[in-house]
Amino acid sequence: MAATQRATTHSADVVVVGGGSSGAAVAGRLAAAGVNVLLVEAGPDYGPFGSGRWPKEILDATALATSHDWGYTSGPLPGRAPFTWERARIMGGCSAHNGAIAAVGHRSDYDAWGVPGWATDELRPFFAAALAAMRVRAYQPEEAGPFHARCLVAAETAGWRIASDLCDLDANESFGLETVNVFEGVRWNSAFAYLDPVRDSGHLSIIDRAIVDRVEETATGAVVHAVVDGQPVTIGGDTVVLAAGVYGTPAILQRSGVGDPDRLRRVGVTPVVESPLVGSNLHDHPMVNAGREMVDDLRRAIEHESARGFVPEEQTLGKSRSSLATDGLYDTHLFPVCASTQTTLTDGRALVEVACMTPRSRGRVDIVSPDPEAHPHIDHAYLTDPDDHDITVLRDGLVLAEELLSQSALADVLLPEPARDLSDAAIRRDVMHYYHPVGTTPMGVDPATSVCGPTGHVHGMQHVVVGDVSLMPQVPRANTNIPAVVIGERIASFLLG
Ligand SMILES: Cc1cc2nc3c(=O)[nH]c(=O)nc-3n(C[C@H](O)[C@H](O)[C@H](O)COP(=O)(O)OP(=O)(O)OC[C@H]3O[C@@H](n4cnc5c(N)ncnc54)[C@H](O)[C@@H]3O)c2cc1C
Repeated sequence: MAATQRATTHSADVVVVGGGSSGAAVAGRLAAAGVNVLLVEAGPDYGPFGSGRWPKEILDATALATSHDWGYTSGPLPGRAPFTWERARIMGGCSAHNGAIAAVGHRSDYDAWGVPGWATDELRPFFAAALAAMRVRAYQPEEAGPFHARCLVAAETAGWRIASDLCDLDANESFGLETVNVFEGVRWNSAFAYLDPVRDSGHLSIIDRAIVDRVEETATGAVVHAVVDGQPVTIGGDTVVLAAGVYGTPAILQRSGVGDPDRLRRVGVTPVVESPLVGSNLHDHPMVNAGREMVDDLRRAIEHESARGFVPEEQTLGKSRSSLATDGLYDTHLFPVCASTQTTLTDGRALVEVACMTPRSRGRVDIVSPDPEAHPHIDHAYLTDPDDHDITVLRDGLVLAEELLSQSALADVLLPEPARDLSDAAIRRDVMHYYHPVGTTPMGVDPATSVCGPTGHVHGMQHVVVGDVSLMPQVPRANTNIPAVVIGERIASFLLG
């Protein structure tokens, strides 16, 4: 910042940083309760649903959207393609460009966190609220596209239990049509769900296209330092909620001097609060796939149905157990994906994606400079757990995926191919992720093993709260959007007392 620039100043009761899945829920719930909220988002805010300004690609739930991405990548890697780590830079965050699959995981996931206030039975009302706000519903059998209708038959023939509702905290292994936050073909994002009801309430202000640099505590509150159009902006609040996502939230804390003092000094940041675990515990569901070329009849059938209506590439999901699932609970997701053309998820083939839902590998995220526009260094360290747990779960899942593809309901419309290479080298070369990174400011009771306390407050700070998936000590065995919204609901409830 140039010495002559004077910062524009704003204030609110609560400043929420990041208008994503969690942040929109925090801001919306607080504003609805009469709290004056200022929401700061790095990406554009296109206004309410129906404003006519939301890009078609962002609304269209048939495939992932790609236009509003932060652009994080691993850079070149030996022996394999670089990783891309998609994160949305737009109001609604990743809920505005994701697959819109709604899942909740299993009750044991949240109970295992061992954090007061976050056990499954304490979270149930917040799950119910999140599912209602996000308009979650299950696809009905008559909505299954030509490929997914066959997947249901193939799964049943292969011996899977077919379930009508996969969004069930008490259910175990099963296969079925997915539950989604899709409303009349629109990806129903958290901004529509939580901000639209309070946009005219007088309690919500929004600064969009504003990148938050850091947060600083004062005697009575906290001040957010942001940059808008190259100009400094400061926003004061009694409380600041950081909901900038799994990479953004630890980066803001690190730029604020909250982290491992040695690491901070190495990148030119003066330590303020010693919190060695900021940026650690980064983990995700690693994913690989098995696939086949389609016969022309199937491709034409998908094209035909797509011309007539809404045919998403992803509609069915299986939860299964690997040989390592000794607790008797599912630890694998298998989800078929198919589109008639090339999309982010498919290369025009029929795929069965396989994800390890109980990953043990851990990486980290670290800023490389105090510049808020500089991308952090992200190292996911996929498949590095010393016992090879994660790679074993993936290999077992690939065997099930091949079994599914070989059922006649699918084999009849797919071209035969040699069996997939299940070697360690092949899985390591091909591993991707399920877009579900979490855990970089984990919450817990003991400051020695966590960054935030049970109410999200950063240990060592009075007025700064984390309110997104960075809080998760361990990722649930679920797609993480609804859990992220639940975190927003829960943090808002704590702030409202
Ligand atoms: C391609 C993709 C597909 C996915 N598919 C699914 C799916 O089908 N189902 C599912 O359940 N989950 C899915 N997920 C995961 C899910 O969407 C995320 O886990 C969830 O949205 C994370 O919510 P969050 O609030 O923690 O972060 P985000 O939603 O990422 O929100 C963070 C917000 O903070 C803003 N921000 C970041 N840094 C700053 C800064 N310095 N200043 C100001 N603002 C900042 C960002 O722009 C963003 O809007 C998918 C994710 C991706 C990327």
